[in-house]
Amino acid sequence: MTDKKDFFDFTNTEACAALAELLFPNVTESPEECIARFPARKLPEGAKVTRFAPSPTGFLHFGGLFPTTVGERLAHQSGGVFILRIEDTDAKREVEGAAENLINTLAHYGIKFDEGATADGETGIYGPYRQSQRGPIYHVFAKQLVKEGKAYPCFTTAEELEKLNSSDKKEEIKSKDWHFDAEAAREQMLDQRRFDLDDVKASLEKGENFVLRIKTDGDVSVKHPFTDLIKGNLEVPENDEDFVLLKSDGIPTYHFAHAVDDRLMGTTHVIRGEEWLPSLPKHIQLFKYLGFKLPKYMHIAQIMKLENGAKKKLSKRDMGANMNDYKRMGYAPECVMEYVMTLLNSNYEEWHAQNPDKKYTDFPFSIKKMSTSGCLFDFAKLGDVSKNVLCKYTADQIYDGVCEWAREFDPEFAALLERDADYAKSIFAIGRGGKKPRKDFGAWGEVKAYMGFFYDELFNITDNFPEGTDIEDVKKVLKDFAEQFDAADDQNAWFDKIKATAEKYGYASDMKAYKASPESFKGSVADVSSFLRLAVTGRLNSPDMYEVMRILGADRVKARMISYADEL
Ligand code: GLU
Repeated sequence: MTDKKDFFDFTNTEACAALAELLFPNVTESPEECIARFPARKLPEGAKVTRFAPSPTGFLHFGGLFPTTVGERLAHQSGGVFILRIEDTDAKREVEGAAENLINTLAHYGIKFDEGATADGETGIYGPYRQSQRGPIYHVFAKQLVKEGKAYPCFTTAEELEKLNSSDKKEEIKSKDWHFDAEAAREQMLDQRRFDLDDVKASLEKGENFVLRIKTDGDVSVKHPFTDLIKGNLEVPENDEDFVLLKSDGIPTYHFAHAVDDRLMGTTHVIRGEEWLPSLPKHIQLFKYLGFKLPKYMHIAQIMKLENGAKKKLSKRDMGANMNDYKRMGYAPECVMEYVMTLLNSNYEEWHAQNPDKKYTDFPFSIKKMSTSGCLFDFAKLGDVSKNVLCKYTADQIYDGVCEWAREFDPEFAALLERDADYAKSIFAIGRGGKKPRKDFGAWGEVKAYMGFFYDELFNITDNFPEGTDIEDVKKVLKDFAEQFDAADDQNAWFDKIKATAEKYGYASDMKAYKASPESFKGSVADVSSFLRLAVTGRLNSPDMYEVMRILGADRVKARMISYADEL
C-alpha cells in the first residue's frame, strides 16, 4: 500500500475558512452583499427574463439565431427582459471582432435586447455583461464555496503541466492499448482532495497556479426527475465529478459562470442548445451548492439538414449556417425571421395565412409547439417563405431593398438601378398589388436575373426555342410585329396585333380552336408570343409581356426584334 496523504477535512469549518482566505485574500465582499447589488427586478407576474449568451468565437450562425428568437419572443411576449451576455472567458478561442459582428448581425435581424452588451459598451444595471469583466464577482462565490467545504484547489506544478501536455501522454491516450479505467480515474480524482493547509501555503508561495474544483457529493447512480420545457420529463443523474469552477488563470468555466451570472441577472428561463444537456447535472448541483433557485431550462434541439435522404446536423460549414451569407445572398431580415418562425412553431404558417397583415411579433409563440427532436433546415422552403413576404412589398420597398443590397454586393447593378429610379420602380411594379401578386424572387441576389434584361447593359439571350421551331417563321414574325408595334396601344390592341400576326403565318390565334385541331395549324398564338418574348427578354419566361414592352419602349422593343431576327 502506498502512503497516501489524508484527505482535507472539509467538515472542519475553521480549516475551510482558512483555506478560503489563503486562496482569495483579496475578496472582501460577501455573497449577500454581492447579491444585494443586483436587486430582484420589478416585473409583471409571469414575465420571463431570458438571455442570449454567445461566445465570441465566430460569426452568428442559423443555429444561434434560432434560440435567440425563442428567448426574444418569450421575454417580450411576457413583458419581461431580454439580455445579451457575451461569454468571452476563453481567450484562446476568441476571434477578434466576433462580439461586434454578433451584435451587428443580431441588430440587422431586428433582434432587440433590453439589456446587455452593445457595440460600444453596454446598457443595464445587472452587468458587466461581458464575462471577462466579471472576474471579482465569480471570486466572491468561489471563496464562499471553499469556505463551506464545497470546493478546493488543485495545484499543478509546471513540470506536471508539462507532463500532462506532453506528446507522449497524448500518444498514449490515442494508442489502441489505452483503456479507460473508471475506478482508477475515480481514485485519482479523489486523491486530489488529499492535501493540507501547509501544502497550499507552500504551493502559493512557490507561485504555483491552481484550478478550483467542486467537491462533489453526488452519486451518478441516483437519478432525479427533471422537467425541461422542451425535452419534457427527464431523469437526471447526480454529478459525481469534481469538475473545474475556476481555471488556473482564475477565469470561470462555463458551468460556474452560468450559475453565477444567471442568478445575478435574474434569468428565469435558460434557453440553450441541447449540447448542454449532458452538463445539466453539474449545473443543478452548482445552483444547489450556491443556494440559488434553479431557473427553468429549455434545451433546443439541433437544426438538421437532409443529405442524401438522411438527417444530419446543420454544421457551421453548411450553406445556410452563416448568417452573413444570408446578407450576401440578399435575404431580407424580415424573410429570414419569417422562416425562423415557421420552423419554431408548427402552427405559425397557418396563423399567418389567417392574419396576413400582422407581424411575426404578434404571433402567440408557444413553447409547447416547438420541435423536441430538431427541425429540418430547407433552403427551398426559405425561398418560398421569402417570396411570400416580398410579393407583398410595394415597388418602392423592393427598389429600396435591392438598392441597399446592391450598393454593398453588386455596385454596378446598384448604379444601373439608381440611374433612373422611376424606370426601375416601374419594372418592380409589374404584377404587384393585385390579389395574386407575382412571386419571382425571394432574395435581392435573385433580382438581377429576373429583370436584368430591362437594361441593355445586362441584356442577352439565354434561352433557346423549343426543338422543331421553324426559324424562318420566327424571323418573319419578329420583323412583321416590330413594324406594327406601338407603345401607345392598349393591351387589347396590342394583343390583337399578336393574334393577327399569328394568323398571318399559319398559327392559331384562338387557343380553343388550336386545341380542337392542332394538326390544322403550325402552332398557336402562344408560340408566336414566345418568339416575341425570347427576342425582347432573352428568355422564355418573363413578367407580363405587354408591361415589359411598354416599359422598354418602342425603340428598344423594335431594335431587339430586328437584331434577333437578323442573328437567326
Ligand atoms: N456560451 C454558451 C454557448 O455559446 C452559451 C450557452 C448558454 O446559453 O447558456 O454555447
